Amino acid sequence: MKIALMGIGKIAVDQHIPAIAASPDWELAATVSRHGTVDDVEAFTDLEQMLATRGDVRVVSLCLPPVPRFAAATAAIKAGRHVMLEKPPGATLSECHSLEILARKQRVSLFATWHSREAAGVAGAKAWLADKTLRKMTVTWKEDVRRWHPGQDWIWQPGGLGVFDPGINALSIVTEILPDPIHVANAVLEVPENCQTPIAASIDFTHPGGAQVHAAFDFRQQGDQIWSITAETDQGTLMLSDGGALLSIDGTQQLDANDRSLTGEYPRLYARMAELVSQGDIDVDLAPMRHVADAFTLGQRVMVDPFVE
Ligand code: NAP
Repeated sequence: MKIALMGIGKIAVDQHIPAIAASPDWELAATVSRHGTVDDVEAFTDLEQMLATRGDVRVVSLCLPPVPRFAAATAAIKAGRHVMLEKPPGATLSECHSLEILARKQRVSLFATWHSREAAGVAGAKAWLADKTLRKMTVTWKEDVRRWHPGQDWIWQPGGLGVFDPGINALSIVTEILPDPIHVANAVLEVPENCQTPIAASIDFTHPGGAQVHAAFDFRQQGDQIWSITAETDQGTLMLSDGGALLSIDGTQQLDANDRSLTGEYPRLYARMAELVSQGDIDVDLAPMRHVADAFTLGQRVMVDPFVE
């Protein structure tokens, strides 16, 4: 199937373009980006023009930041195209609900992707936790924003999510692997005085079985970068680390050395999109975004030092 990629920035270059190139399902037939292009692929700077002139491109994958994504997704769906959304699927929950309703009306596929759910250790973690009693879960997602998000001013603007841009990846794993629903009980959001979004967040969740569930997100991490989830249960302790690439139970690594990576995430997302299109299905799970919205609703704001890149 021919696919167009919109928003040729960091994640498009790092992951989407290689995943599409390696897939037997997809041919990158067009790009839509004001600055970015891909060698030997027809480049547009305007989505409407691409939609009007490339009727052969049936699928559009959107790698834009969250705020401009809704307008682009709406235009593509109205033009009868199947749409794949980078995470988070939009700037607000209501936008995402509207997109899903529109996609059903237009009878096109819509896929709200959560790449971290495709990390190597996540399926095994979900299976192991399914019959355990959770006592405590600690989520630690701490990275250096200067290293991983250079020049991405949109992260600090309304709708850019700040530290929840990576934090929502942790929440996408948590909501996938926990058998029981949790909800935000309280949160503290540290917001630089020159920014609109938090640079750090600390969140406590209510768990139906009374387990302590806590998440700490921080964009100011120096030295070792930490993306880990620890689950203490009645039958041992599970740890997902390196963003879900590593899975250990009671200290024993569960994955073969060859499987311990994140390289399968985007190929699996594109394989799933091919499946959704062939079956005429929609896959939109907004659970990770609900937790972020709740943290913004309930969270106590603490003003901290300005952020200067
Ligand atoms: P990015 O490097 O800033 O690239 C996004 C691209 O979207 C830009 O290059 C820009 O291309 C285009 N764009 C269109 N309208 C824009 C606007 N109003 N503001 C800024 N850019 C606009 O961002 P990214 O890191 O690729 O992230 C894009 C999405 O992927 C985000 O939702 C993010 O959460 C997600 N994601 C990122 C990573 C990562 O490691 N960076 C990992 C997984 C997922 P033109 O100027 O050429 O139009």
